[in-house]
Amino acid sequence: MSDDANATADDGSDASVIVVGGGPAGLSAALFTAKNGLETTVFDADGTWMHKAHLFNYLGIGSVGGTEFMETARQQVDSFGVDRRQGEEVTSVEAADTGDGFVVATEDGEYEADYVVLATGANRDLADDLGCVFTEEDVVDVDVEMETSVDNVYATGAMVRPEEWQAAIAVGDGAAAALNILSDVKGEHYHDFDVPADAERVFGDAVAE
Ligand SMILES: Cc1cc2nc3c(=O)[nH]c(=O)nc-3n(C[C@H](O)[C@H](O)[C@H](O)COP(=O)(O)OP(=O)(O)OC[C@H]3O[C@@H](n4cnc5c(N)ncnc54)[C@H](O)[C@@H]3O)c2cc1C
Repeated sequence: MSDDANATADDGSDASVIVVGGGPAGLSAALFTAKNGLETTVFDADGTWMHKAHLFNYLGIGSVGGTEFMETARQQVDSFGVDRRQGEEVTSVEAADTGDGFVVATEDGEYEADYVVLATGANRDLADDLGCVFTEEDVVDVDVEMETSVDNVYATGAMVRPEEWQAAIAVGDGAAAALNILSDVKGEHYHDFDVPADAERVFGDAVAE
């Protein structure tokens, strides 16, 4: 973990992020925002396509079952403090009446956040309801940073592509969205770099040679 990690509390920001969808795209976004100090909540209905997949094409991992991959990813985000609401489906996302931030509703309650990352797979209804612009191919239109036409709303993973659906791409989308949020919060371009000394400090003798 870098010295900059969890620096948000130090720089006075209390920005919050809600991620809708806990597949590879959503959990990747949540990992980066929580690891770097933003209050992060993930709502996930657990319908990820990863439960049907077996990966041989995820760089750096030879072979892994999709469900096993998700179990590791869930443990990873939990260890960085993500509030992961498994099984809690989001029913609506709306701009707050104050004009500042968003209100996210589920069957269990309403939650507020400064930023929303949509990661709902091929289901694009929430983006449509929010008024996000869609492309001619009827997917959510985003820029390279994964921000939609609605300020502070991001869309990631399968919902921004008509096909070309891959776990590695979804994970990259989530990371890009999170880093753009972090750059916005911190007021300068932001990256999340760690070095071997960080691993030694955290894991001590357990660090692999
Ligand atoms: C049979 C099959 C095999 C595949 N094999 C491979 C492979 O070998 N390699 C590879 O790279 N990719 C493979 N894929 C594709 C891969 O699974 C997807 O690219 C990846 O899962 C997309 O990630 P995502 O996060 O965008 O969406 P998903 O993984 O679909 O996750 C979306 C999540 O959002 C949740 N959600 C949706 N709406 C809401 C809501 N309103 N509230 C709360 N939660 C919500 C869903 O329940 C789901 O858990 C395969 C897919 C299939 C179907």
